[in-house]
Amino acid sequence: MRQIKEYCGIFGIVNANNAANQIYLGLHALQHRGQESAGIVTSVYDEARQKMVMPVHKGNGLVLDVFKKPSIFNSKLLGTSGIGHNRYSTSGSTNNRANIQPFVVQYRDGNLALAHNGNLSNARELRTTFIERGTLFQSTSDTELVLHLVAQSTRRRQEDKIIDALTQVEGAFSLVFLTDESLIAVRDPNGFRPLALGAIEGAGPDGTKAYCIASETCAFDLVGAEYIRDVEPGEILVINRAGCENGEFQSYHLGRNFGISQCIFEYVYFSRPDSKIFGESVDKVRRKIGKELAHDAPPPPPGKDGSCPIVISVPDSSNTATLGYVSECKKLELDCRFEIGLIRNHYVGRTFIAPGQDSRERKVRSKFNTVTGVLRDRIVVMIDDSIVRGTTAKQLVRMVRNAGAQEVHFRVASPPVISPCFYGMDFPSHEELFATRHGSELEEMKEWLQVDSLAYLSIEGLIRAVKSANESELGYCDACFTAKYPVPVSMGVSKDENEW
Ligand code: SF4
Repeated sequence: MRQIKEYCGIFGIVNANNAANQIYLGLHALQHRGQESAGIVTSVYDEARQKMVMPVHKGNGLVLDVFKKPSIFNSKLLGTSGIGHNRYSTSGSTNNRANIQPFVVQYRDGNLALAHNGNLSNARELRTTFIERGTLFQSTSDTELVLHLVAQSTRRRQEDKIIDALTQVEGAFSLVFLTDESLIAVRDPNGFRPLALGAIEGAGPDGTKAYCIASETCAFDLVGAEYIRDVEPGEILVINRAGCENGEFQSYHLGRNFGISQCIFEYVYFSRPDSKIFGESVDKVRRKIGKELAHDAPPPPPGKDGSCPIVISVPDSSNTATLGYVSECKKLELDCRFEIGLIRNHYVGRTFIAPGQDSRERKVRSKFNTVTGVLRDRIVVMIDDSIVRGTTAKQLVRMVRNAGAQEVHFRVASPPVISPCFYGMDFPSHEELFATRHGSELEEMKEWLQVDSLAYLSIEGLIRAVKSANESELGYCDACFTAKYPVPVSMGVSKDENEW
């Protein structure tokens, strides 16, 4: 499933000897969450100017490209604390450089930087109010609204200004603020997006601990941090240097108008399987999803010649669920075996554009190839984590058939996607979604994909898989599968709506 784009990855660190280097590594591990731009800002005392400053470096492209020069780390991004951001735009145009995060501003209380993962669902309403007041905007991103709300708050303490601002925004937001004294990590009251706290032993001055915050724990592994806990839904966690000495940080909580609704799609597709999300391993959850799929959508019987079906995954996001599927089929004594029939080329960047009229097909071909010897004359069960538009799935099916497969049976490790996301994922419109285009008619969808059979995981099966792997009582958002939106979305802005 490739037509939904990841949104953003955020990383922050406090009390680290080489903060910018650690953020760089953290962002590199989170590259899958956003490939359009990257940025790092640090906080340091400038001896010459005798004040705190926040140097920033950001640009379009991958982390490796934006931070190529060693001088960025050796002489620019100095200091022991900082935040970083990988962007895939869900609000604000891709091409507008002003939208690259983190944002850095100066205001009454000093320097302030901010990085955001998510989408504010009342952004349009807030922006209109600001514009009527005469507020000037530097970017077209909804994230800037948070900075204006902080700057215009009438509260006295900086932390109170931030809390005041956050009580006025709705929707999905995992945030890291950098102030002259601290790093402030925030998760919206519904907990849509993940955010975790970790610590690195001995990484601070005089061998003290450094503390870090990341969208996913795979970033902790690269910097040698240990996972401590999730930032709780609605929590505002203030990590300052003094707290690093004893590991005690101030924590505030935002009020909640709606229930907790963590994004279930993180488990289906977005997050890396080596991460812990919402307090549980993605690998574990995905295996359970695959097991449930074996019950809801078993493989076809062996062929007339007795040959057992082979099960292949659409790499990489479907690999783990496929392993779960095959192991459960074995338990259920359903004859099938795992094979690698599709190979993914990992070096195709987002900007790759194949020339010619058949460019979309070439694009898929440039990303995937078939292993003919594995597929020829076989009954093939293809497992994908989800189907969004269906165009990639259709081309992959054609490729597998062209490789000589006797039959192709498509199994989807999530329910049909019937509604767009308004909480920070870039989905196609309602009309473009594969399932809605075909009125969710399985037979019609099967015909369009040109497969011998098509079956999905049920919503009950998905919930069962997630709940059995993650025992936490916290709830989930499944609106893209059910159209039941946990937070009203009527005021959300479209991606380019504020472009000038
Ligand atoms: S609508 Fe789907 S993708 Fe969006 S937050 Fe809910 S579960 Fe996640």
